[in-house]
Amino acid sequence: MDEARFFAGGERVAVLTAEPIGRVLDYRAPEGGCAEGAFVVVPLGPRLVMGVVWGPGEGGFDLSRLRAVNRVLDAAPMRGELRAFLLRAAEYTLTPPPAMLRLATRSPGLGEAPGPRRVYRLAGTEPARMTEARARVLDALQSFGGAALTLSELAAAAEVTTSVVKGLVKIGAVLEGEAPRDLPYPRLDPSLPGKALSGDQAAGAERLRAAVQGGGYGTTLLKGVTGSGKTEVYLEAVAECLAMGRQALVLLPEIALTAEFLTRVEARFGARPAEWHSGATQTERRRLWRMVGQGDAQLVVGARSALFLPFRDLGLIVVDEEHDSSYKQEDGVLYNARDMAVLRASLCSAQVVLASATPSLESWVNAEAGKYARIDLGARFGVAELPEMRAIDMRAETLPGDQWISPTLAGAVKARLAAGEQSLLFLNRRGYAPVTICRACGHQIGCEHCDARMVEHRFLKRLVCHQCGDSRPIPLACPSCGVEGKLAPVGPGVERLAEEVAAKFPAARVAVLSSDLFGSARALKARILEIAEGAADIIIGTQLVAKGHNFPALTLVGVIDADLGLQGSDLRAAERTFQLMRQVAGRAGRGAKPGVALLQTFQPEHAVIRAILGGDEEAFWRAEAAERRVAGMPPYGRMAGIILSSPDLQAVFDFGAELARRDGPLRRIGAQVWGPAPAPIARVRGRHRVRLLVKADKGAPLQAALAEWTGQLKPPANLRLAVDIDPQSF
Ligand code: ADP
Ligand code: ZN
Repeated sequence: MDEARFFAGGERVAVLTAEPIGRVLDYRAPEGGCAEGAFVVVPLGPRLVMGVVWGPGEGGFDLSRLRAVNRVLDAAPMRGELRAFLLRAAEYTLTPPPAMLRLATRSPGLGEAPGPRRVYRLAGTEPARMTEARARVLDALQSFGGAALTLSELAAAAEVTTSVVKGLVKIGAVLEGEAPRDLPYPRLDPSLPGKALSGDQAAGAERLRAAVQGGGYGTTLLKGVTGSGKTEVYLEAVAECLAMGRQALVLLPEIALTAEFLTRVEARFGARPAEWHSGATQTERRRLWRMVGQGDAQLVVGARSALFLPFRDLGLIVVDEEHDSSYKQEDGVLYNARDMAVLRASLCSAQVVLASATPSLESWVNAEAGKYARIDLGARFGVAELPEMRAIDMRAETLPGDQWISPTLAGAVKARLAAGEQSLLFLNRRGYAPVTICRACGHQIGCEHCDARMVEHRFLKRLVCHQCGDSRPIPLACPSCGVEGKLAPVGPGVERLAEEVAAKFPAARVAVLSSDLFGSARALKARILEIAEGAADIIIGTQLVAKGHNFPALTLVGVIDADLGLQGSDLRAAERTFQLMRQVAGRAGRGAKPGVALLQTFQPEHAVIRAILGGDEEAFWRAEAAERRVAGMPPYGRMAGIILSSPDLQAVFDFGAELARRDGPLRRIGAQVWGPAPAPIARVRGRHRVRLLVKADKGAPLQAALAEWTGQLKPPANLRLAVDIDPQSF
């Protein structure tokens, strides 16, 4: 499929480097020649940098005056498909190609074959004299599951100096040896039988198998409530893909999900798949990167950046929980992994499966329009039924001002306690209280660097900014008027809710699940497992608990504030609230007993709340879609955000206003521009952020117009401009 050219020594070649200059640069091919896509080392100014041979060179200068490629790295050349993908992705997101290339070559030390590096592993004997530092080293080795680490990796993982490791080697508790050649991944066996599928499941699996077998591109939306067996169904598509000898990629939104997931894959295919995530060691990433390129990693399970791995023959991409907002990278290169998965699949003749209980409106509309196939899974698998959902009208409940659990909800929790069942109280707010106000002067404590309020975290004994992470001790006196003892928390966070729960249900075992209360993803996972096995009666959680975890004894979900997501002017608010509420409610009744979800709301007649309760999802999507269509908003129109940021507020606004004035290139394609206005996150780490929003018709050549428009003005020093195609909020 890939006809790679070979360039003879001395020929002119174009090399794309990951450095933020130019597009491709011309070099003289090295003595032994090089292949198209080869990873090479080239001189750039006084430095040597890594690059990829992009094709024949073009410039008209004297060949003898070109600098020569220094060295060809010992890695499989980047395939034409991946190079084409990077260019198209760069074009779509208006990212300079070098930045895109960086995403695909982030694997450190890539190309360097495993050499005679020293690596360390457990010997299996305990040192006679154990110190805390030594214990940390042994723990670190343990937690990497037997993978060999280099000295610096091990010291960093254990947070000790290298001498501690060397000491352990000397006494024989840690073994030092040579890095092995890449260990092959264990083979997955797609011919092992899967679970016996229900009628719905079997029909869906058959359609996906047929699509994969066809060998071409296509996207399928796989929709079904949580627990309906979507995973079982798409694993059949994975089986088909592996049986054909092609590779498969499963993208998951959250690392916390993978432990359970990997075990399931192992049960299905007899071995663990390769895992790609930011927490992996450098050694592991290097190994995976090479094995993927050789076609020796059959199945990769990973976070969004796994999309940029150099697959040899990718036949299937599954995007699980496709609506999840974490698929949108909001830092550096702004891309949506769901959309990029579709792009990459279309270039390498692969199938895409988008799985979700509550698809994004974009995917729903694409299925409706026939661009995507659609498979619906009906009920939950087995006996478990969807929870019954009811509103608690908070206008009719009597509650003191500093309490949030209504008598009705409290009664429901009490009944669960009596029956020995679990309850989950959901509140999407970390910390103790979202606002700290001075009762003497009315001042609200805000972050010094951001346009955000400081959130009180009693557990940490600090005020924390959820935007930039800055924190400080909780002050005694008001920073504005200086009066002491008048600062008061306003509103609930999960920590404060936990106090109320403890007061109302003193005998209950309470667990608070909030990302900031756990030192590591591993500690969180362990706690979740304990809770699933019954270690808590009442779980208090943020949106962390909405995703995927299975608590079999959980029969009641209480949403403390169902109105929370509906405030604000974001057009996606309805969609997000609907998705989140549905997901949270889906946590109840996953075991044998049916569940109930109770939503506390001050506006039970609100259309979104009614849609959540009524359960007619199709009607909800249709209404949402109709609203967007009338407004010409995505997915019926196109949008882009231009984010300008600078420490100087006046400078960003002035620059934004000047850009808005010079809107000729936009008007020529019929696009409108709004702003400048403060960006959704208006100030971060001392930088003011201002946004211009551009709206265009569906078919308009938006990227070209944006490039021409923003190219008219050179930003002043210290002002950054980032283009956000298809912004998440508008
Ligand atoms: P989803 O991905 O839609 O949330 P899962 O595939 O995780 O659903 O299925 C939910 C639970 O039901 C899992 O524990 C799964 O193993 C089980 N399950 C689903 N389908 C079957 C089946 N056909 N046979 C046995 N167990 C099943
Ligand atoms: Zn801040």
